Amino acid sequence: MFRTHTCGELRIDNNNQTVTLSGWVAKRRDFGALTFIDLRDRYGITQLSFNEEYNQQLLAESRKLGREFVIQVNGMVTERSSKNAKIPTGDIEIVVESLTILNSSLTPPFTIEEETDGGDELRMQYRYLDLRRDNVRANLMLRHAVAKHVRGYLDQKEFIEVETPVLIKSTPEGARDFVVPSRMNQGEFYALPQSPQTFKQLLMISGFDRYYQIVKCFRDEDLRADRQPEFTQIDCEMSFVEQEDILNLFEGMVQYLFKQVKGIDIGTLPRITYEEAMHNYGNDKPDIRFDMQFNYLTELVKGKGFPILDTAECVLAITANGCANYTRKQLDELTEWVKRPQIGAKGMVYVLCNADGTFKSSVDKFYSQEDLKQWAEKCHAQAGDLILLLSGTTKDAQKQMSELRLEMGSRMGLRKKDEFKALWVVDFPLLEFDDENNRWHAMHHPFTSPKPADIPLLDTNPGAIKANAYDMVINGVEVGGGSIRIFNKELQAKMFKTLGFTDEEARYQFGFLMNAFEYGAPPHGGIAFGFDRLCSLFGGADSIRDFIAFPKNNQGRDVMIDAPSVIDAKQLKELGINSQI
Ligand code: ASP
Repeated sequence: MFRTHTCGELRIDNNNQTVTLSGWVAKRRDFGALTFIDLRDRYGITQLSFNEEYNQQLLAESRKLGREFVIQVNGMVTERSSKNAKIPTGDIEIVVESLTILNSSLTPPFTIEEETDGGDELRMQYRYLDLRRDNVRANLMLRHAVAKHVRGYLDQKEFIEVETPVLIKSTPEGARDFVVPSRMNQGEFYALPQSPQTFKQLLMISGFDRYYQIVKCFRDEDLRADRQPEFTQIDCEMSFVEQEDILNLFEGMVQYLFKQVKGIDIGTLPRITYEEAMHNYGNDKPDIRFDMQFNYLTELVKGKGFPILDTAECVLAITANGCANYTRKQLDELTEWVKRPQIGAKGMVYVLCNADGTFKSSVDKFYSQEDLKQWAEKCHAQAGDLILLLSGTTKDAQKQMSELRLEMGSRMGLRKKDEFKALWVVDFPLLEFDDENNRWHAMHHPFTSPKPADIPLLDTNPGAIKANAYDMVINGVEVGGGSIRIFNKELQAKMFKTLGFTDEEARYQFGFLMNAFEYGAPPHGGIAFGFDRLCSLFGGADSIRDFIAFPKNNQGRDVMIDAPSVIDAKQLKELGINSQI
């Protein structure tokens, strides 16, 4: 038997018991006639003690043990003379009676501690060692807990987990596909699913009624901190439901997860329309942990001789409470911040609302105290507040102000990691116009249903159509999104046409779905949650990478196994791929 207990298990109640433990040498401390070793496994750390008086030979052997050696010890649980309140096993130690080295280890390239000296790249290269660190393991245990509670909730609501294939035909979800060449059908390719969208709709046609799957999806996109080429969704679909049913059921799931995983009651989720989100926050995934909504000053600022504001299509302002004490230096720095290419503003106007009721602005030359007072009223600003203005086209001003709002929220400490504010954003437009390619794109995906009352607009004004589509947003992160689907062949055909597919292309790519619609497709709809994102949110981290056991880096590489990699000529030939570019 390798062990009678784990390294996290023994307490003072076990005093005087003889036990066997196995684990890794986390730390060795030598003191003349005495050696202490911290023995680590997944469950914790237990101190081992070797001393000269007790057994000289064992003491000598213990001194050969390096970090990360795998050992087995047998010994007596003994009360410690100096206890360690920081760890659960800190009242006891094992006085070792026999020692077996199960395996040696090279010196690890970085310290396996919460605070490690290893850089990102090195830790990823030796991810199996990185995963021995408590905090990294804790992230994966959190992930496990979230998955378990998702399954628990959905099972209780009669959802069935069904696996869908990974080698499929392309399903457009707005990203590029990863493709796999077929050896048996040379010159042809599978696509890896960007999501199981069409399969879950087919399952509804099959009568499964409620489906879910915690499933890998693949999108060949440029990567950012919160993106991975392969990621996991909690993918769900339901039949005989309206939008309201879906919102309620999945609001319940997220409330349940917060309660189970974090012990937090997040309450009822507010619902705002896409239009309101854009108007008030300039963003379809607003962070509502803080208010700071947009004020529209376009008309109010006109006619005082300041050309930039006079001619702007849109003038927006936000009020930063209590920031009238910003120094000139801070304001200049903020102005430089909005002018960075990533934000792209031409400049920024500010108004300090002084404690004595006067105003100091960067445009005092053009605007009187009375003018600025009116601005302040419009912006609900009080003495002590700072008003920031940006102007431009409505689209640019909203986008830039959205960034500035988030930045001010961060600078003012209003975006706390341990505070969670979730909401639904509903009534998304069905389509968005792609100026570059001069065509309509589905904002969610081509299977999303227009609101029934808007269907006639497909012929006259597609841009005005609203969809039965919704996103769940938590702390400014889109954690889930879905829609009510089209389930009628004619409407689906019309949708493909609006998106610029010829009949033939639509049939080639989606014939199977259109055919299925002819065999009694029920009304249905669904949603998918970004599982990695949800976990990183629960864990209070910005990057999803920390919650994935073996993630890829920013270049889409796995630096540990060194993938992607070239394949040999023989393999290429078998696949019917002749030359390598
Ligand atoms: N398949 C969609 C997505 O991946 C989600 C859904 O509509 O259910 O975003």
